[in-house]
This record gives sequence, structure tokens and C-alpha cells, in this order.
Amino acid sequence: MKLFELTKSLMSIPSVSGEEEAVGSYLRDHLESLGWTVELQSVSETQNNVIAYLNDTPRVWLSTHMDTVPPFIPPTEDDEKIYGRGSCDAKGIIAAQIIAAEELRRVGVEDIGLLYTVEEERASTGAKVANHHPIAAKCEYLINGEPTDNDLAIGSKGAFRAKIKTKGKAAHSAYPEQGDSAIEKLLDILEDVRHTKFPNDDFFGETTCNIATLDGGIALNVIPPHAETGLLIRLTTPMEPIRDALESLIRERGELEILSYSLPVKMLAVDGFEQKVVRFTTDIPHLGNWGQPLLLGPGSILVAHTKDEFVLKKDLEIAVGLYVNLVKELLTAETQSR
Ligand SMILES: [Zn+2]
Repeated sequence: MKLFELTKSLMSIPSVSGEEEAVGSYLRDHLESLGWTVELQSVSETQNNVIAYLNDTPRVWLSTHMDTVPPFIPPTEDDEKIYGRGSCDAKGIIAAQIIAAEELRRVGVEDIGLLYTVEEERASTGAKVANHHPIAAKCEYLINGEPTDNDLAIGSKGAFRAKIKTKGKAAHSAYPEQGDSAIEKLLDILEDVRHTKFPNDDFFGETTCNIATLDGGIALNVIPPHAETGLLIRLTTPMEPIRDALESLIRERGELEILSYSLPVKMLAVDGFEQKVVRFTTDIPHLGNWGQPLLLGPGSILVAHTKDEFVLKKDLEIAVGLYVNLVKELLTAETQSR
């Protein structure tokens, strides 16, 4: 199957995080039909990572995730672009990697594997399970795919996911002095969050905070007894200074609950490829057993997760060549670690 057809076939199978079973089965069948040995690694009852290889000890692996953010948007296309959910994040990448791997096979390179994970878009649940697969120990380089505009990402920010919860006391809203508003407490805390200067890093850049969700209260005529907010902070430092900054600004007014975090990562730089630091996080922090990480993929992160997601067909084709060259480079030439 050709590059664009494979991209569209993968996109036409809905796989919002948690519902990756069908796309995983499709990939297994497709790769087996091409002669790959394919394992489905169980992550939950209905979720499997897909692990494919040609020999027992592949040195270089290509990987990305099979899940998408909601909602499902079926593929459409014109001469230049493929539109729809997963076009750039990350089903176009899966297709480009498979086509690249097949090209490498044709010139006798069989030291390659393919790893496709579930639930990257939530908390990298699939990657965390994949990290314990015994074959990881034999891997030297992991080329992860995310939309980097086909540049080689040499750094990616981490992500710190947390909730802040406040408690109050419910009362008739006509007698506010009888109650204690959890929402007003939370607003005070959030005002402090907005004015906090979190520490930055020279290499990774600025630490940014998204106050992403707000929830609380019962009814218009009740003083709210509970409230909570969800934050996602793009980490450029270790986790502890951010946690400490939050705890010291919250003080006794509320409670910090850390949901998950991944650290910023430096990746391998290879001569001859455009390089940059990206602001988003990937599966890479959770795939530490899979050798030295690299990150490259077609498409723009700026359209990923939007209703207008697309990938340029030209960029998919360029990515195939880049993956082929990167694998050859890693298997043969001297590379420099940063
Ligand atoms: Zn992605």
C-alpha cells in the first residue's frame, strides 16, 4: 500500500485514546502481510501496543502513538493535503515510518523495529508498559515521531499535570456569612498562579502554565462547598521546583494533587538535519529503556489537536526519506550526543 493510502486507511479507523484496539489489529494484519513478526503487547483488556521486527535484535526502532485526541474527523484530501484527525498526529507518521522501513528492507537493512503505543495523548500509558518489554534492552536508538515540521528535535519540554482543590462550607446564598466559598478561595489561588514566575531554562526555554479546567459549586443559591482546577505546566526544569512553587503559593487554602509528570528531555543530534527544541512532550520520557532517543516527524504541532488538522502530502514524502537517512546514519556513521 502506498503512503497516502496507508495514511488514510489508518485515519479512517477511529482511535481516540482508550479505543485503539481496532487500529492496533489493522496494523498487526498489515505488517504481518508484509512479513514482519508482530506482537500485540497488552496494556489493558482492550488496548495493545504494536511491536514489529524482522530479526531478534533490532538496533534502531521507529515509533509513535496510535491514539488521537477527540473527536474523530474522517480523512479528506486535495492535491496538496490530507485533512482529518490523525493526519499529522500521528497516523501520517506511522504510514511514513512503515514505508521508510519497507524501503530500508529493500536495500537489505533489517536491523529495524516498529513500536506503536496506545494512550500517548493522556499519560503515555502504553509507553510506560512498552518500556518493560525485554526487547527494549537490545535497542540502541529510538526514533520517535511527532509533528516537528520534519526538523530533528534535540529537546522537548516535559509536562506537569495537576489539580488544585479547595474546600468551603455550603450555606444559603442569602446568608453568605454562614458559609465559606470554595470558588472564591480557588480564584485567589489562581490569581497567584497567574502572577507566579516559574523558573525557566536556557536550553529548553520558558516554563508555561495552562489553567485548563475549572469546576465547582452546586447551584446559584448555594455558597459553593468545593471547587477545583486542572493545570498543565510545560516543564523546562526538574519537577520539584514547580511543585514547591505551587505548594508555597497555595499554602493552607487548598490542596495540590499531582496527576502525572514527564521531564524535559535532550535528544540525539545528528549532523545534516535541521535542529530545534519543541515545546510539547512525547512518549520519549517514558521509553528510557529503548536506547538513545531522537524525534522527527512531518506536519505541524500547531494544527495537531485542532479541527483543521492536516498534513502536506509533500511533507509525508520528505519524512520517508528523512527516516530512511536517519536510520542509515545511525547504523553506520559516527553521531554526536549532546
Ligand atoms: Zn502526537
